[in-house]
Amino acid sequence: MSTHAGASTRFSSSVYADRLSRAAAAARDAGLDALLITPGPDLQYLLGSNAQSFERLTCLVIPADGEPASVVIPRLELAALKDSAADELGLEIRDWVDGVDPYEIVAQGLPRPARVAVTDAMPALHLIPVAAGVGALPVLATDVLRELRMIKDTEEIEALRRAGQAIDRVHARMGEILRAGRTEADVAADITSAILAEGHTEAAFVIVGSGPHGADPHHEVSDRVIEQGDIVVIDIGGPVEPGYNSDSTRTYSMGEPSPDVAAKYAVLEEAQRAAVDLIAPGVTAEAIDAAARSVLAAQGLADAFVHRTGHGIGLSVHEEPYIVAGNSVPVREGMAFSVEPGIYFRGEWGARIEDIVVVTADGCEPVNVRPHGLTVLG
Ligand code: ZN
Ligand code: ZN
Ligand code: ZN
Repeated sequence: MSTHAGASTRFSSSVYADRLSRAAAAARDAGLDALLITPGPDLQYLLGSNAQSFERLTCLVIPADGEPASVVIPRLELAALKDSAADELGLEIRDWVDGVDPYEIVAQGLPRPARVAVTDAMPALHLIPVAAGVGALPVLATDVLRELRMIKDTEEIEALRRAGQAIDRVHARMGEILRAGRTEADVAADITSAILAEGHTEAAFVIVGSGPHGADPHHEVSDRVIEQGDIVVIDIGGPVEPGYNSDSTRTYSMGEPSPDVAAKYAVLEEAQRAAVDLIAPGVTAEAIDAAARSVLAAQGLADAFVHRTGHGIGLSVHEEPYIVAGNSVPVREGMAFSVEPGIYFRGEWGARIEDIVVVTADGCEPVNVRPHGLTVLG
Protein backbone atom coordinates (compact mmCIF):
# COMPACT_ATOMS: atom_id res chain seq x y z
CA MET A 1 0.00 0.00 0.00
CA SER A 2 1.12 3.51 -0.69
CA THR A 3 1.60 5.93 2.15
CA HIS A 4 1.37 8.95 -0.13
CA ALA A 5 -1.59 11.27 0.18
CA GLY A 6 -2.11 10.95 -3.56
CA ALA A 7 -2.36 7.15 -3.38
CA SER A 8 -5.52 7.02 -5.48
CA THR A 9 -3.61 8.42 -8.45
CA ARG A 10 -1.98 5.05 -8.92
CA PHE A 11 -2.11 1.36 -8.00
CA SER A 12 0.06 -0.27 -5.32
CA SER A 13 3.78 -0.46 -6.07
CA SER A 14 3.78 -4.22 -6.60
CA VAL A 15 1.64 -3.68 -9.73
CA TYR A 16 4.37 -1.49 -11.23
CA ALA A 17 7.18 -3.82 -10.11
CA ASP A 18 5.44 -6.57 -12.05
CA ARG A 19 4.89 -4.40 -15.12
CA LEU A 20 8.53 -3.23 -15.14
CA SER A 21 9.87 -6.75 -15.02
CA ARG A 22 7.48 -7.92 -17.73
CA ALA A 23 8.43 -4.93 -19.90
CA ALA A 24 12.13 -5.75 -19.46
CA ALA A 25 11.45 -9.38 -20.41
CA ALA A 26 9.49 -8.30 -23.49
CA ALA A 27 12.37 -5.99 -24.49
CA ARG A 28 14.81 -8.88 -24.07
CA ASP A 29 12.60 -11.12 -26.23
CA ALA A 30 12.56 -8.40 -28.89
CA GLY A 31 16.37 -8.32 -28.95
CA LEU A 32 16.57 -4.82 -27.50
CA ASP A 33 19.04 -3.31 -25.05
CA ALA A 34 16.60 -0.97 -23.31
CA LEU A 35 13.22 0.76 -23.31
CA LEU A 36 13.24 4.55 -23.04
CA ILE A 37 9.96 5.96 -21.78
CA THR A 38 9.28 9.71 -21.57
CA PRO A 39 6.07 11.07 -19.95
CA GLY A 40 2.76 9.88 -21.39
CA PRO A 41 0.48 6.83 -21.15
CA ASP A 42 3.38 4.34 -21.22
CA LEU A 43 5.03 6.09 -18.26
CA GLN A 44 1.69 6.12 -16.43
CA TYR A 45 1.37 2.42 -17.16
CA LEU A 46 4.87 1.45 -16.07
CA LEU A 47 5.43 3.79 -13.12
CA GLY A 48 2.10 5.37 -12.19
CA SER A 49 3.66 8.73 -13.00
CA ASN A 50 1.68 11.67 -14.35
CA ALA A 51 4.88 13.64 -15.07
CA GLN A 52 4.64 15.96 -18.08
CA SER A 53 6.96 16.31 -21.05
CA PHE A 54 8.98 19.52 -21.21
CA GLU A 55 12.03 20.65 -23.14
CA ARG A 56 14.18 19.20 -20.34
CA LEU A 57 14.36 15.42 -20.62
CA THR A 58 12.56 13.13 -18.17
CA CYS A 59 13.03 9.47 -19.15
CA LEU A 60 12.49 6.08 -17.55
CA VAL A 61 15.27 3.72 -18.66
CA ILE A 62 14.42 0.01 -18.49
CA PRO A 63 17.45 -2.15 -19.29
CA ALA A 64 16.53 -5.39 -21.04
CA ASP A 65 19.13 -7.39 -19.14
CA GLY A 66 17.14 -7.23 -15.90
CA GLU A 67 19.31 -4.54 -14.26
CA PRO A 68 17.12 -2.17 -12.20
CA ALA A 69 15.28 0.58 -14.06
CA SER A 70 16.27 4.20 -13.46
CA VAL A 71 14.78 7.62 -14.04
CA VAL A 72 16.70 10.42 -15.72
CA ILE A 73 15.02 13.65 -14.62
CA PRO A 74 15.83 17.35 -14.25
CA ARG A 75 16.51 18.12 -10.60
CA LEU A 76 13.87 20.85 -10.70
CA GLU A 77 11.23 18.27 -11.78
CA LEU A 78 11.94 15.78 -8.98
CA ALA A 79 8.64 16.64 -7.28
CA ALA A 80 6.81 15.25 -10.33
CA LEU A 81 7.95 11.76 -9.29
CA LYS A 82 6.67 11.88 -5.72
CA ASP A 83 3.29 10.31 -6.47
CA SER A 84 4.78 7.64 -8.73
CA ALA A 85 6.02 4.22 -7.68
CA ALA A 86 9.68 5.21 -8.32
CA ASP A 87 10.37 5.86 -4.66
CA GLU A 88 8.84 2.72 -3.20
CA LEU A 89 10.42 0.55 -5.87
CA GLY A 90 13.80 2.08 -5.04
CA LEU A 91 14.54 3.03 -8.63
CA GLU A 92 17.80 4.86 -9.17
CA ILE A 93 17.09 8.55 -9.79
CA ARG A 94 19.68 10.08 -12.11
CA ASP A 95 18.78 13.74 -11.72
CA TRP A 96 20.56 16.35 -13.76
CA VAL A 97 21.02 20.12 -13.75
CA ASP A 98 21.09 22.60 -16.61
CA GLY A 99 24.43 22.47 -18.41
CA VAL A 100 24.62 18.66 -18.21
CA ASP A 101 23.75 16.53 -21.28
CA PRO A 102 20.88 14.25 -20.18
CA TYR A 103 21.11 12.21 -23.41
CA GLU A 104 24.60 11.15 -22.39
CA ILE A 105 23.22 10.03 -19.02
CA VAL A 106 20.59 7.93 -20.82
CA ALA A 107 23.29 6.30 -22.98
CA GLN A 108 25.50 5.46 -19.98
CA GLY A 109 25.61 1.77 -19.25
CA LEU A 110 24.18 0.87 -22.67
CA PRO A 111 26.27 -0.68 -25.46
CA ARG A 112 27.08 1.60 -28.38
CA PRO A 113 25.29 1.53 -30.68
CA ALA A 114 22.39 0.47 -28.48
CA ARG A 115 19.15 -1.05 -29.74
CA VAL A 116 16.50 0.90 -27.89
CA ALA A 117 12.74 1.26 -28.19
CA VAL A 118 11.09 4.56 -27.30
CA THR A 119 7.53 5.34 -26.27
CA ASP A 120 5.48 6.78 -29.12
CA ALA A 121 4.81 9.75 -26.82
CA MET A 122 8.48 10.81 -26.98
CA PRO A 123 8.63 14.26 -28.61
CA ALA A 124 10.94 14.65 -31.65
CA LEU A 125 12.71 17.25 -29.54
CA HIS A 126 14.02 14.36 -27.41
CA LEU A 127 13.94 11.54 -29.95
CA ILE A 128 16.61 13.03 -32.19
CA PRO A 129 19.21 13.66 -29.45
CA VAL A 130 18.33 10.27 -27.88
CA ALA A 131 19.09 8.60 -31.24
CA ALA A 132 22.37 10.50 -31.47
CA GLY A 133 23.21 9.60 -27.87
CA VAL A 134 22.69 5.86 -28.28
CA GLY A 135 24.18 5.84 -31.78
CA ALA A 136 21.24 4.22 -33.58
CA LEU A 137 17.69 4.97 -34.69
CA PRO A 138 15.29 3.71 -31.99
CA VAL A 139 12.22 1.60 -32.75
CA LEU A 140 8.76 2.07 -31.22
CA ALA A 141 8.10 0.58 -27.79
CA THR A 142 4.47 0.08 -28.83
CA ASP A 143 5.48 -3.22 -30.43
CA VAL A 144 7.07 -4.34 -27.15
CA LEU A 145 4.39 -3.05 -24.78
CA ARG A 146 1.38 -3.96 -26.93
CA GLU A 147 0.70 -7.29 -25.20
CA LEU A 148 1.09 -5.78 -21.75
CA ARG A 149 -1.05 -2.71 -22.42
CA MET A 150 -3.77 -4.64 -24.31
CA ILE A 151 -4.53 -7.25 -21.67
CA LYS A 152 -5.98 -5.42 -18.69
CA ASP A 153 -5.36 -6.81 -15.20
CA THR A 154 -7.94 -6.87 -12.40
CA GLU A 155 -7.05 -3.39 -11.13
CA GLU A 156 -7.32 -1.91 -14.60
CA ILE A 157 -10.67 -3.60 -15.26
CA GLU A 158 -11.97 -2.26 -11.96
CA ALA A 159 -10.80 1.24 -12.98
CA LEU A 160 -12.55 0.89 -16.36
CA ARG A 161 -15.75 -0.16 -14.57
CA ARG A 162 -15.57 2.93 -12.36
CA ALA A 163 -15.04 5.08 -15.46
CA GLY A 164 -18.01 3.40 -17.17
CA GLN A 165 -20.28 3.97 -14.18
CA ALA A 166 -19.19 7.61 -13.97
CA ILE A 167 -20.02 8.37 -17.61
CA ASP A 168 -23.30 6.43 -17.32
CA ARG A 169 -24.27 8.83 -14.52
CA VAL A 170 -23.61 11.74 -16.88
CA HIS A 171 -25.85 10.23 -19.58
CA ALA A 172 -28.49 9.66 -16.89
CA ARG A 173 -28.55 13.44 -16.33
CA MET A 174 -29.19 14.28 -19.99
CA GLY A 175 -32.86 14.98 -19.27
CA GLU A 176 -31.82 18.04 -17.22
CA ILE A 177 -29.17 19.19 -19.68
CA LEU A 178 -30.31 18.51 -23.24
CA ARG A 179 -33.30 20.60 -24.41
CA ALA A 180 -34.53 22.15 -27.63
CA GLY A 181 -33.75 25.88 -27.63
CA ARG A 182 -30.27 25.50 -26.13
CA THR A 183 -27.10 25.64 -28.23
CA GLU A 184 -24.79 22.66 -28.59
CA ALA A 185 -22.13 24.75 -26.81
CA ASP A 186 -24.39 25.42 -23.80
CA VAL A 187 -25.25 21.74 -23.56
CA ALA A 188 -21.57 20.81 -23.85
CA ALA A 189 -20.62 23.21 -21.04
CA ASP A 190 -23.14 21.55 -18.71
CA ILE A 191 -21.99 18.09 -19.77
CA THR A 192 -18.39 19.09 -19.01
CA SER A 193 -19.42 20.13 -15.48
CA ALA A 194 -21.32 16.87 -15.03
CA ILE A 195 -18.34 14.81 -16.25
CA LEU A 196 -16.18 16.45 -13.56
CA ALA A 197 -18.90 16.23 -10.89
CA GLU A 198 -19.34 12.51 -11.54
CA GLY A 199 -15.73 11.72 -10.75
CA HIS A 200 -13.61 12.32 -13.85
CA THR A 201 -10.42 14.35 -13.53
CA GLU A 202 -11.01 15.92 -16.94
CA ALA A 203 -13.58 16.04 -19.74
CA ALA A 204 -11.36 14.66 -22.49
CA PHE A 205 -13.97 15.05 -25.23
CA VAL A 206 -17.56 16.22 -25.50
CA ILE A 207 -19.36 15.68 -28.80
CA VAL A 208 -22.84 17.19 -29.14
CA GLY A 209 -23.95 16.56 -32.72
CA SER A 210 -27.47 17.86 -33.26
CA GLY A 211 -29.54 17.46 -36.42
CA PRO A 212 -27.28 17.53 -39.51
CA HIS A 213 -24.19 17.80 -37.26
CA GLY A 214 -24.94 14.30 -36.02
CA ALA A 215 -24.02 13.05 -39.49
CA ASP A 216 -20.40 14.04 -38.85
CA PRO A 217 -18.99 11.38 -36.49
CA HIS A 218 -16.28 13.66 -35.07
CA HIS A 219 -18.22 16.91 -34.96
CA GLU A 220 -17.57 18.46 -31.54
CA VAL A 221 -19.80 21.41 -30.68
CA SER A 222 -21.06 24.59 -32.32
CA ASP A 223 -23.41 27.48 -31.63
CA ARG A 224 -26.21 25.70 -33.46
CA VAL A 225 -29.50 25.93 -31.55
CA ILE A 226 -30.97 22.47 -30.94
CA GLU A 227 -34.46 22.25 -32.43
CA GLN A 228 -37.54 20.22 -31.65
CA GLY A 229 -37.41 17.16 -33.91
CA ASP A 230 -33.57 16.94 -33.89
CA ILE A 231 -31.71 13.70 -33.36
CA VAL A 232 -28.69 14.43 -31.12
CA VAL A 233 -25.54 12.31 -30.79
CA ILE A 234 -23.79 12.68 -27.41
CA ASP A 235 -20.32 11.05 -27.28
CA ILE A 236 -18.46 11.84 -24.07
CA GLY A 237 -15.64 10.66 -21.85
CA GLY A 238 -12.53 11.33 -19.87
CA PRO A 239 -10.14 9.82 -17.35
CA VAL A 240 -10.91 8.75 -13.78
CA GLU A 241 -8.16 8.00 -11.26
CA PRO A 242 -5.70 6.46 -11.88
CA GLY A 243 -6.00 7.62 -15.49
CA TYR A 244 -8.38 5.10 -17.12
CA ASN A 245 -10.84 6.54 -19.63
CA SER A 246 -14.56 6.39 -20.14
CA ASP A 247 -16.08 6.73 -23.62
CA SER A 248 -19.80 6.29 -24.24
CA THR A 249 -22.25 7.45 -26.88
CA ARG A 250 -26.01 7.65 -26.66
CA THR A 251 -28.40 9.21 -29.15
CA TYR A 252 -31.35 11.35 -28.12
CA SER A 253 -34.46 12.49 -29.95
CA MET A 254 -35.98 15.92 -29.31
CA GLY A 255 -39.59 14.75 -29.38
CA GLU A 256 -40.90 11.55 -30.97
CA PRO A 257 -38.74 10.40 -33.89
CA SER A 258 -40.24 9.93 -37.35
CA PRO A 259 -41.08 6.32 -38.35
CA ASP A 260 -38.13 6.37 -40.79
CA VAL A 261 -35.65 7.44 -38.09
CA ALA A 262 -37.08 4.93 -35.61
CA ALA A 263 -36.81 2.09 -38.14
CA LYS A 264 -33.21 2.87 -39.07
CA TYR A 265 -32.26 3.34 -35.41
CA ALA A 266 -33.70 -0.09 -34.60
CA VAL A 267 -31.32 -1.62 -37.16
CA LEU A 268 -28.40 0.22 -35.52
CA GLU A 269 -29.39 -1.20 -32.14
CA GLU A 270 -29.47 -4.67 -33.61
CA ALA A 271 -26.04 -4.13 -35.23
CA GLN A 272 -24.49 -3.04 -31.94
CA ARG A 273 -26.01 -6.04 -30.15
CA ALA A 274 -24.84 -8.47 -32.85
CA ALA A 275 -21.24 -7.30 -32.41
CA VAL A 276 -21.41 -7.52 -28.59
CA ASP A 277 -23.05 -10.96 -28.74
CA LEU A 278 -20.23 -12.33 -30.89
CA ILE A 279 -17.43 -11.24 -28.54
CA ALA A 280 -15.54 -14.07 -26.83
CA PRO A 281 -11.90 -15.08 -26.58
CA GLY A 282 -10.63 -16.27 -29.96
CA VAL A 283 -13.04 -14.23 -32.10
CA THR A 284 -11.08 -11.88 -34.34
CA ALA A 285 -11.37 -8.10 -34.20
CA GLU A 286 -12.41 -8.05 -37.87
CA ALA A 287 -15.18 -10.60 -37.24
CA ILE A 288 -16.65 -8.33 -34.56
CA ASP A 289 -16.52 -5.41 -36.99
CA ALA A 290 -18.18 -7.54 -39.67
CA ALA A 291 -20.96 -8.63 -37.29
CA ALA A 292 -22.15 -5.04 -36.86
CA ARG A 293 -21.59 -4.17 -40.50
CA SER A 294 -23.52 -7.12 -41.92
CA VAL A 295 -26.66 -6.30 -39.91
CA LEU A 296 -26.62 -2.77 -41.34
CA ALA A 297 -25.80 -4.01 -44.85
CA ALA A 298 -28.73 -6.43 -44.80
CA GLN A 299 -31.05 -3.43 -44.35
CA GLY A 300 -29.39 -1.31 -47.04
CA LEU A 301 -27.43 0.77 -44.52
CA ALA A 302 -23.89 -0.36 -45.42
CA ASP A 303 -22.94 3.05 -46.82
CA ALA A 304 -24.26 4.85 -43.74
CA PHE A 305 -21.65 3.20 -41.45
CA VAL A 306 -18.47 5.10 -42.29
CA HIS A 307 -15.98 4.12 -39.56
CA ARG A 308 -14.55 1.10 -37.74
CA THR A 309 -16.67 -0.60 -35.08
CA GLY A 310 -14.35 0.16 -32.17
CA HIS A 311 -11.03 0.87 -30.52
CA GLY A 312 -9.18 -0.36 -27.46
CA ILE A 313 -9.29 1.87 -24.39
CA GLY A 314 -7.38 2.24 -21.14
CA LEU A 315 -4.88 4.94 -20.24
CA SER A 316 -5.39 6.19 -23.80
CA VAL A 317 -8.86 6.82 -25.23
CA HIS A 318 -7.82 5.17 -28.50
CA GLU A 319 -5.35 2.28 -28.29
CA GLU A 320 -5.07 -1.30 -29.47
CA PRO A 321 -6.91 -3.47 -30.32
CA TYR A 322 -8.73 -1.71 -33.15
CA ILE A 323 -12.00 -3.42 -34.11
CA VAL A 324 -11.64 -2.95 -37.83
CA ALA A 325 -11.65 -4.86 -41.13
CA GLY A 326 -8.20 -6.33 -41.76
CA ASN A 327 -7.32 -6.79 -38.07
CA SER A 328 -7.14 -10.55 -37.67
CA VAL A 329 -6.01 -10.37 -34.01
CA PRO A 330 -8.16 -12.70 -31.91
CA VAL A 331 -9.54 -10.93 -28.86
CA ARG A 332 -8.50 -12.28 -25.48
CA GLU A 333 -9.78 -12.23 -21.93
CA GLY A 334 -8.92 -8.87 -20.35
CA MET A 335 -8.99 -6.81 -23.54
CA ALA A 336 -11.14 -3.68 -23.32
CA PHE A 337 -12.56 -1.89 -26.34
CA SER A 338 -15.51 0.10 -27.63
CA VAL A 339 -18.34 -1.29 -29.73
CA GLU A 340 -19.72 1.78 -31.48
CA PRO A 341 -21.42 1.35 -34.82
CA GLY A 342 -23.10 4.47 -36.19
CA ILE A 343 -25.27 5.52 -39.12
CA TYR A 344 -24.82 8.88 -40.80
CA PHE A 345 -26.98 10.66 -43.38
CA ARG A 346 -25.16 13.70 -44.73
CA GLY A 347 -27.03 16.93 -44.19
CA GLU A 348 -29.79 15.16 -42.26
CA TRP A 349 -29.01 13.26 -39.09
CA GLY A 350 -26.85 10.60 -37.50
CA ALA A 351 -26.88 8.12 -34.64
CA ARG A 352 -24.35 6.05 -32.75
CA ILE A 353 -24.46 3.62 -29.82
CA GLU A 354 -21.19 3.09 -27.94
CA ASP A 355 -20.36 0.89 -24.99
CA ILE A 356 -16.99 -0.16 -23.65
CA VAL A 357 -16.75 -3.91 -23.10
CA VAL A 358 -14.18 -6.09 -21.33
CA VAL A 359 -13.61 -9.57 -22.75
CA THR A 360 -14.32 -12.31 -20.18
CA ALA A 361 -13.58 -16.06 -20.21
CA ASP A 362 -16.72 -16.82 -22.22
CA GLY A 363 -18.04 -13.54 -23.59
CA CYS A 364 -17.79 -9.92 -22.57
CA GLU A 365 -18.88 -7.54 -19.83
CA PRO A 366 -20.15 -4.12 -20.92
CA VAL A 367 -19.05 -1.44 -18.46
CA ASN A 368 -21.77 0.89 -19.78
CA VAL A 369 -25.30 -0.18 -19.04
CA ARG A 370 -27.52 2.77 -19.99
CA PRO A 371 -30.48 1.78 -22.22
CA HIS A 372 -29.57 1.63 -25.90
CA GLY A 373 -32.86 2.92 -27.27
CA LEU A 374 -33.35 6.36 -28.77
CA THR A 375 -34.13 8.37 -25.63
CA VAL A 376 -36.93 10.85 -26.25
CA LEU A 377 -36.37 14.20 -24.48
CA GLY A 378 -37.95 17.63 -24.59
ZN1 ZN B 1 -13.33 8.55 -32.23
ZN1 ZN C 1 -16.92 7.79 -28.11
ZN1 ZN D 1 -14.97 5.53 -28.83
